Amino acid sequence: MHQIESDILLQKQKGFFESGKTRNISFRLDVLTNLYKMIESNESKILDALKKDLNKSTTEAYTSEIGYVLKEIQIAIKQLKKWSKPQRVKTALINQPGSSFIHHIPYGTVLVISPWNYPFGLLFTPIVGALAAGNCVIAKPSEIAVNTSHLIYSMIKDNFHEEYFAVVEGDAEVTQSLINDKIDYIFFTGSTNVGKKIMKSASIFLLPVTLELGGKNPCIVDKEVNLEVSARRIVWGKFFNAGQTCVAPDYLVLHKDLKDSFLPILKSTIDEFYPDRDNFSHIINTKHFDRISALMVEGKIISGGIKDKENLYISPTVITDIDWNSKIIQEEVFGPLLPVIFYDNLDDVLFNCSKKSKPLCIYFFSDDKLQQEKVINQSISGSVCINGTIHTIMSHELPFGGVGASGMGNYHGKASFDTFSQKKSVMKKSFLFDQKFAYPPYKTTLNLLKKALKILN
Ligand code: NAD
Repeated sequence: MHQIESDILLQKQKGFFESGKTRNISFRLDVLTNLYKMIESNESKILDALKKDLNKSTTEAYTSEIGYVLKEIQIAIKQLKKWSKPQRVKTALINQPGSSFIHHIPYGTVLVISPWNYPFGLLFTPIVGALAAGNCVIAKPSEIAVNTSHLIYSMIKDNFHEEYFAVVEGDAEVTQSLINDKIDYIFFTGSTNVGKKIMKSASIFLLPVTLELGGKNPCIVDKEVNLEVSARRIVWGKFFNAGQTCVAPDYLVLHKDLKDSFLPILKSTIDEFYPDRDNFSHIINTKHFDRISALMVEGKIISGGIKDKENLYISPTVITDIDWNSKIIQEEVFGPLLPVIFYDNLDDVLFNCSKKSKPLCIYFFSDDKLQQEKVINQSISGSVCINGTIHTIMSHELPFGGVGASGMGNYHGKASFDTFSQKKSVMKKSFLFDQKFAYPPYKTTLNLLKKALKILN
């Protein structure tokens, strides 16, 4: 898309937004209902595209991409009237008689930019919130998940008017051409490096941004754990979509006393979960295949290690004999490799984790309540999950987002509606009881003023 075309599209959306149609709750409910129907009736095509792009199993593709989005739509449809109602707040005595409200106002046109790893779910989940809040949307799917991108483009073109919901396909250049003074909000999911570029471009026009960025998520396993359950939850969370998940446990930090007991269980769980390649996602492309392969040279592979470049397959792999300075601990893995380091002091682990950039998630396995509280209270991360891994992201109630290098802002469920709504403060005052002492020339002494403010505010 050229600059002129993106300008025309933005102009159309601006006109539509200014017509006020998206302010109407019935209009939004119709849009969300149509979106639900569109996704339901195209389910097999979506699964097919995800299979072509990433060899996603039906179960993983349905739960994490289609099912999740459908549930978000259902929640938004059910709650929209309640969410969008002006929220009454207290009015201080000084402003009485009067009333105060917070109104939720749509921004205008929201640009939603998504990555390739969950090319359907990570585009549509924010879109649900943006549309529910009454915005127009321009969606830019990842050009790397090419089959899903083409399908999304044609589905939206066939089912919605571009005046309020359009898809633009393309790469970095196309995306940058969309960032101009007519965009009102940018919601970006992707790498930390590109996130910085997005924020830089947005700063020229002072556009508000939500950034959902990279994850380098430690998974700490303490002595006090159920070994089998922990292994199942870690293996599932790590190798879901072949580790190409921002919230995947990136590296395992295992208590040294568990070295001999836990690693064999981890290995046998992997063998049990993935007896063959059929339901295991592929690496998205050769560039990422080579990047992940380069992380396999350091340390000792104790499980997996099979690579098939032609089919973009890397088996679930566990690597030991590395330390905090190893490349695989420094870089985001974003693939089916689980590096393991050992610890004997939790404070040291938390120190080492916080020395790195702030993670999207921290996973801590332990039955020890004091240690659990220590991790929750002493760490800085987007989220913490105790005795679980990617379970938190499946929640529609918990706001999802990062902090520092892992992002800013959050979404999911009500948090999405809030993200895409400007909170407008509204106060209604009466003409009665105009308090003259508030106006110049000021006659009140400071002491009296302090006393009055204590009562009136
Ligand atoms: P990416 O940053 O390369 O690309 C994301 C999107 O940005 C794509 O649509 C791409 O076309 C666009 N883009 C790329 N360069 C651009 C530029 N210079 N200007 C404007 N737009 C540009 O990310 P990716 O490789 O698609 O995804 C993997 C990364 O995303 C990983 O780091 C992963 O952790 C992160 N991620 C984060 C979340 C989250 O919710 N926090 C979810 C999934 C993935």
